[in-house]
Amino acid sequence: MSKSIKPEYIPKTIEQKLGYFVEECGEALAAAGKSQRWGLDSVNPDLYPEYQETNAEWLLREMADVERAIGYLREVLEPTPAAEDDDPAIIRLADFDKEGMQARIHRGR
Ligand SMILES: [Mg+2]
Repeated sequence: MSKSIKPEYIPKTIEQKLGYFVEECGEALAAAGKSQRWGLDSVNPDLYPEYQETNAEWLLREMADVERAIGYLREVLEPTPAAEDDDPAIIRLADFDKEGMQARIHRGR
């Protein structure tokens, strides 16, 4: 599974959080693409055996990274508690705390 992130790599500003999200989505797409092309049980033959993992393991690791990146972005983009409905994964634009989000962006978190 995904390792914890080193403290010095934790994104702190909105730009760093967006960049981390984009980077991790790209890595997840690469793992998904390799899985689709070569199969979930395939491994990268160019890696030393001790570093090899199946594409399924790689994809799961990258999905966990994307979930972490989403968490960092939620710190900036999250709706107000009153706006949360039964599915907190859905952020409805009409309920969005625009002023709060802008304040968080200007504070750089
Ligand atoms: Mg990653």
